[in-house]
Amino acid sequence: MEHQETARILIAGTGPAGLVAALGFADAGFPVTLAGPRASVPDGRTTALMNPALKVLDRLGVLDDIRPEAAPLKIMRIVDATSRLIRSPVVTFRASEIGEELFGLNLPNSVLNPALVRRVAAHSGIEWRASMVKDWHLDADRARAVLADGSTAEARLAVAADGRLSPAREAAGISTAARSYPQAALVLNFRHSRDHAFTSTEFHTGTGPFTQVPLPGNRSSLVWVVKPETATELAALDDATLSLKVEQQMQSMLGRVMVEPGRQVYPLSAATPLRFARDRVALVGEAAHVFPPIGAQGLNLGIRDVDDLIGIATENRSDPGAAKALAAYDFKRRPDILARSSAVNLLNMSLLSEMLPAQVARGAGLGVLGGFAPLRAFFMREGLRPGSGFAALAGGLRKPARH
Ligand SMILES: Cc1cc2nc3c(=O)[nH]c(=O)nc-3n(C[C@H](O)[C@H](O)[C@H](O)COP(=O)(O)OP(=O)(O)OC[C@H]3O[C@@H](n4cnc5c(N)ncnc54)[C@H](O)[C@@H]3O)c2cc1C
Repeated sequence: MEHQETARILIAGTGPAGLVAALGFADAGFPVTLAGPRASVPDGRTTALMNPALKVLDRLGVLDDIRPEAAPLKIMRIVDATSRLIRSPVVTFRASEIGEELFGLNLPNSVLNPALVRRVAAHSGIEWRASMVKDWHLDADRARAVLADGSTAEARLAVAADGRLSPAREAAGISTAARSYPQAALVLNFRHSRDHAFTSTEFHTGTGPFTQVPLPGNRSSLVWVVKPETATELAALDDATLSLKVEQQMQSMLGRVMVEPGRQVYPLSAATPLRFARDRVALVGEAAHVFPPIGAQGLNLGIRDVDDLIGIATENRSDPGAAKALAAYDFKRRPDILARSSAVNLLNMSLLSEMLPAQVARGAGLGVLGGFAPLRAFFMREGLRPGSGFAALAGGLRKPARH
């Protein structure tokens, strides 16, 4: 019987994408070296993961650990809260309409990341070097990393899970199309007096989305996208004043609001690499796509990157970093990543059109998109059943032409 040797995989980065990649590759029988810090930065955010991503976490054995602290997402709504003359009607999706009990779960990152870390630390197939990669040497048949602790690691395939600035991507000479937005996200959790009924509501405003996502009990998380200076001002308010502002913004939909301690501000930006693999390096997670937090897309997409990469590596076990395997990965991920990145950026720009100079907005055709419900609905559908959002969007786009 022919025996195919299984090559080692080197993963750089210990954010959620890197940890999921380490577990997935190790479970698929690849010896794994993981390079990156062990202590994670405290993260008060929550992540909405849809059913396809949850299936991956279940397969990796981490879902049972996190489920008790996660809230099911049963209803998702988009409310046009812009001050435009013509506004979109409220769009509501119910999981029950597509025969599902829930769309996904909203998980605190402070629960998800430690659960992944515990699993990785306990996995006998993963060698974790708790050190940053300082230098990359990429040649025709292997990738070699020099770590900050002085050690080196090499493998046929390097997985760049090293975040938005991705030093591995840079070493591979992959350039990105990058853009920054005049926006920042204020992130916090809050209690409320009324039941959320497992509903997430995304209010689309003239500065960006204001998104409430349920947590267990009468609690929710909030991602509020505003101008950077407004985010700084809001973050500096006392609890009572900020609570009132959040309540007003939600039109008291959840009754009285009481913000919890801990506020974070994230500047928004976007970056799309010109390719997703090259010179023994494959990009996953934010190394492969950065866009604003609208419609809970980022890590869902990152988990699909990892899943596809493992599938291709499994078909090329002895050399998963060969040019042929990397070309297959680039080909497979390109449509998914580009469609989502451009749709999120377009949607964000359409909300921002009131903030942009009129000629810029017109030049980008944003007047047509402003207040356009089918585009806004796209993300919800796409997160659930990849492909169905495109069909709905195409249907919606055709309608106005008939009038
Ligand atoms: C406000 C907000 C809300 C969001 N909500 C959602 C949501 O609801 N659903 C969703 O799917 N997504 C969401 N996202 C997106 C999601 O958070 C990101 O997609 C995800 O965190 C990216 O993970 P990552 O592992 O790719 O990157 P990171 O978490 O940035 O990890 C990168 C890691 O690489 C390490 N690193 C960097 N350089 C090196 C080096 N030289 N050597 C070794 N390691 C290195 C860093 O230390 C870090 O640990 C949200 C994002 C924001 C900002």
